[in-house]
Amino acid sequence: MARRLNGRVLAAHYETSLRTSVAQRLATAGCPPGLAVVRVGDDGASGVYVGRKAQACGRVGIRSWIIHHPATASQQEVLESICRLNADPACDGILVQLPIPAPLDARQLLLAVDPAKDVDGLHPLNLGRLVRGEPGLRSCTPAGIMALLAHGGVVLEGIRALVIGRSILVGQPMGIMLQQANATVTVAHSRTRNLADHCRQAELLVAAAGQPGLVGGHWVRPGAVVVDVGIHRAPPPQQGTRATLQGDVRFAEVEPLASHITPVPGGVGPMTVAMLLWNTVQAWQQRCGGGTAPLAPLPR
Ligand code: NAD
Repeated sequence: MARRLNGRVLAAHYETSLRTSVAQRLATAGCPPGLAVVRVGDDGASGVYVGRKAQACGRVGIRSWIIHHPATASQQEVLESICRLNADPACDGILVQLPIPAPLDARQLLLAVDPAKDVDGLHPLNLGRLVRGEPGLRSCTPAGIMALLAHGGVVLEGIRALVIGRSILVGQPMGIMLQQANATVTVAHSRTRNLADHCRQAELLVAAAGQPGLVGGHWVRPGAVVVDVGIHRAPPPQQGTRATLQGDVRFAEVEPLASHITPVPGGVGPMTVAMLLWNTVQAWQQRCGGGTAPLAPLPR
């Protein structure tokens, strides 16, 4: 039976450490870390995520606020909000909540964020720094997965890793981080042939395809480490019961085979939020001259 990589427990540990760091440096810094979320439209899931991030900020002493534009906002209006936040000394981190509704151009909005405040790690400069292995703000979900793997004692050196998905948000930075940890990485995507064969060879499998239940037991090599990034709201099993969350992995089938597995919920999701907090505190420290990162540095 696989060991569960518990993101809730590790995220709580990060929060405790960050709360202490913020409290210790507050007097010197003169103001708390600040995180602004730019949201456009009323996507329901985005609303839930934004709310969770705001609560998490409150727990560690980060001041957070939301700039909420209607779905009818123009590109210029949203860009002006971002420019104001870039210039705002009370703002250390800017998060553009995705997805951005059409016809707005999310790429241009992300490009407008000051790279020093890019706590989602999605600005081309920070992605370039990642590729070059230089210090910079890292994408939260893959950074959170690296922290979970490190904490779970998973040795990455030399292992055969498969990442399913090649998005800029998850799959691409995940592949690069794993390579930098000396894994041998394959990145699969919607045009990959014989995905099941690739999966069966993987000693580490990161499923980030956004396809509910894509990975079943017959795709998983016994003893593999399985990380499930997908989040899908499954319909309630019975009338009157609540909707449940499921991932890209069929947990019940895979748990008996794998050596380690992340549950959904409670695996990758909480770590994504923890890394957002970590990046915001780091950006604040950089601005206030507070020195090095508050925790043992994340795997970079
Ligand atoms: P995306 O839609 O941008 O990218 C999906 C990728 O998967 C694409 O590269 C596509 O080529 C690939 N893909 C799709 N179907 C495939 C298939 N059948 N076989 C192989 N590859 C396939 O999605 P994303 O933003 O990268 O997110 C992926 C999933 O992770 C979603 O379910 C999303 O909700 C979830 N997510 C979770 C967290 C978290 O904190 N847990 C954070 C970000 C995203």
